[in-house]
Amino acid sequence: MTHSTSSAQAWQDEYSTRIMKSAALPLAELVRGEGCYVWDSEGTKYLDFLAGIAVNALGHAHPVLVDAVSRQIATLAHVSNYFATPPQLELAERLLRLSGGDRVFFGNSGAEAIEAAIKLARRTGRPRILALQDSFHGRTMGSLSLTGKPALREPFEPLLPNVEHIDSTVEALEAALGSDVAALVVEPIKGEAGVVDLPAGYLAAARELTSRHGTLLIIDEIQTGAGRTGSWFAFQQHGIVPDAIALAKGIGGGVPIGALIAYGAAADLLTAGQHGSTFGGNPLATAAANAVLGEIERAGLVENARRRGDELRRILAGLPLVEEVRGAGLLIGVGLSGALAPAVTSAAMAAGLIVNAPNDTSIRIAPPLIIGDTEIAEFTEKFTTALEAVAAKGPE
Ligand SMILES: *Cc1c(COP(=O)(O)O)cnc(C)c1O
Repeated sequence: MTHSTSSAQAWQDEYSTRIMKSAALPLAELVRGEGCYVWDSEGTKYLDFLAGIAVNALGHAHPVLVDAVSRQIATLAHVSNYFATPPQLELAERLLRLSGGDRVFFGNSGAEAIEAAIKLARRTGRPRILALQDSFHGRTMGSLSLTGKPALREPFEPLLPNVEHIDSTVEALEAALGSDVAALVVEPIKGEAGVVDLPAGYLAAARELTSRHGTLLIIDEIQTGAGRTGSWFAFQQHGIVPDAIALAKGIGGGVPIGALIAYGAAADLLTAGQHGSTFGGNPLATAAANAVLGEIERAGLVENARRRGDELRRILAGLPLVEEVRGAGLLIGVGLSGALAPAVTSAAMAAGLIVNAPNDTSIRIAPPLIIGDTEIAEFTEKFTTALEAVAAKGPE
């Protein structure tokens, strides 16, 4: 059986009989990518403005990443945590320099970065952890315990005890904090909720309040990190220093890697033997992250994310069905004037554009950080076509 030239019917049949039913049927079978484009198994080309959910920071098959990974896998791919490697130490130096943090733990995914954060919080000796309603922190049992979406949580309860999901208001935080709260875990922008901003001043107030109570402020930068929001990390736009940040998605540019960076006293909470991961920080993944972050720096892609994000925001605000434009840099949420998001993503696919609907009323736009004038013009044309097609059909 060939897997290279399957018809839609063939891959769909294979997928639905062989892959665990935990996810909905995929939108297409993709076979190749280059820059900001991907191709499916029927030869259709798409402009990719989702980038594997804010992962492919350099787009697809970027020569710098391909080269770094190829060279590293031909040199030393994996050694276990009984050994140090140059790419691992280089990435630690780079991440601490960019984030201002003091120590880093390497894992393989966002959920694992959050698991490390939960273990860090446990080491304070305090039982309670606060997270926000409608937040997303991952799907493992620990990270799911923090995720503030009842529909995702309920099938797997009981989860971790002593986790409370509070409103995203300073008042709710003030009411929930106390000397028994180990940590507050927050996304600076709620990606899976539809790219929803925190209320203005929330993070600064949260820093104030958590410091006063000796509670760790842990920021989930898994979706917002690696330059996407127009600064290396989103928290840096709020004039605060957190106790820890969780990273994954964009830092590896498509190679799985996660990290927890801790600041100050929090950096010394985990002691020898208390946490680990076989693959965590292996030379292959850390070489990939060095290449991605190095290229973001070299090519000025943080600045590009800010500038292109502003451009896209201006364009989006003038398009049909668009009620609200949220987010920062190249993590953009488009609030639609009704439950039209699934129809818009389908119409966009039909027009050769990949965007995503994290919920019925929101479109998420998270293109590679390398986009320029050409991609913006093409996006505008295709997205307008999609919105007009849905608008023409009228309300569902
Ligand atoms: C994607 C995501 C996670 C989970 O990351 P995985 O790599 O899928 O485990 C956690 N938090 C946020 C904010 C995310 O966007």
